[in-house]
Amino acid sequence: MKQAERQFRSGFLPDHGSMANLFTPEDFADDEALIAKTTSFVEKKVLPRMEAIESHDYAVIRQLFHEAGEIGLSAIEIAEAFGGLSLGKKIACLVAEKMGPAGSFGVSFNIHTGVGILPYVYFGTDEQKQKYLPKLASGEWIGAYALTEPGAGSDALNAKTTAVLNDTGTGWVLNGEKQWITNARIADVFVVFAKTEKGMTAFIVEKKAFPGVSAGAEEKKMGIKGSSTATLILEDVVVPRENILGEIGKGHHVALNILNMARLKLAFLNLGTAKQALQLAVNYAKERRQFQTALIDFTMIQEKAADMAVAIYGAESAAYRTVGVVEQDVHGLCSAGELVKVLSNYALECAASKVRCSEVLDHVVDEAVQIHGAAAASCKIIL
Ligand SMILES: Cc1cc2nc3c(=O)[nH]c(=O)nc-3n(C[C@H](O)[C@H](O)[C@H](O)COP(=O)(O)OP(=O)(O)OC[C@H]3O[C@@H](n4cnc5c(N)ncnc54)[C@H](O)[C@@H]3O)c2cc1C
Repeated sequence: MKQAERQFRSGFLPDHGSMANLFTPEDFADDEALIAKTTSFVEKKVLPRMEAIESHDYAVIRQLFHEAGEIGLSAIEIAEAFGGLSLGKKIACLVAEKMGPAGSFGVSFNIHTGVGILPYVYFGTDEQKQKYLPKLASGEWIGAYALTEPGAGSDALNAKTTAVLNDTGTGWVLNGEKQWITNARIADVFVVFAKTEKGMTAFIVEKKAFPGVSAGAEEKKMGIKGSSTATLILEDVVVPRENILGEIGKGHHVALNILNMARLKLAFLNLGTAKQALQLAVNYAKERRQFQTALIDFTMIQEKAADMAVAIYGAESAAYRTVGVVEQDVHGLCSAGELVKVLSNYALECAASKVRCSEVLDHVVDEAVQIHGAAAASCKIIL
């Protein structure tokens, strides 16, 4: 990559910028921080239903989406004109962090508010926003994003799903199979990427109203077992012309730029889960006694807790710094082109935050499991 281009894309590497502009969680205004309190929703509503979620009780999961919608948690980044709260990215990321302890529900919810909603926010026409965003904001509908296919994972733009304009020119006929789609079995509307003769294009696909849309069986995952993950099957699905999202042949703009923001939100979800794991481990270490001593009084356990806190602090700093600069640059922008430019400018920071927060979560949970000993098998670290 040329030097000029690199500076444009990853400012933090060559240029440390001004410390005055660094955003940290302490910079939240009191009223902004209040939104974090609404996520006591996780403790009161989600955790008591964890068994139902883990066994894919879709009615319970839908009800939770509804309840989260009622208190505005799905509406943070949606404009008020479309049923949202217009509260911006920092608060959206704070909510994502607070959803971390919600385990599998947090994953479903994060997909809904991230890749499930943001494509309409950035790329939708006013008509599309009016039709879909109020329902997604209220939690009446659940959103999903279908890019990956059996032959197109990291190489996401190598998708085989096709979209061909029908004879009357009124709709596009979609055929193909998407894989690993979060919320596949519970979502009402999907952003689906398919190849037209002009290239990859994004389509809004409704599950009930458009015949030929179905979801496969739930994948049996290693963890986050309660989030729905399945194939999305598209058999001669006719999608009305007005349901093209963005421009024909420019679906990669939608796909990749939305993923930048989704990566950042996933960083926050992981950060929230890591904080929960540390809290649970410390609580347990205070209660559990061996050799007539609370575990927390052993130096090696204290060292583990300190090490976990250090890792979380670093990950938190990187993630909040990133959302701070993203928010600063997107503030007041309306056109998809301008928003996309900002998001692609911070692609590296978003990816780095996701990597760091995921690795910190991995490390912190492992240490939390060690501190719990055999009790880890029944502890509430929900992954
Ligand atoms: C729980 C879960 C939920 C998901 N939800 C969604 C969703 O909602 N919507 C959606 O569209 N997709 C979803 N995905 C799919 C996810 O985005 C893909 O798994 C991801 O893009 C990677 O693709 P892959 O799994 O096919 O791995 P592959 O692309 O086959 O990669 C396998 C390994 O090879 C490495 N690799 C690949 N290419 C290179 C290279 N050029 N150089 C070096 N290493 C390389 C990868 O890093 C990886 O380690 C989900 C996946 C999971 C597990």
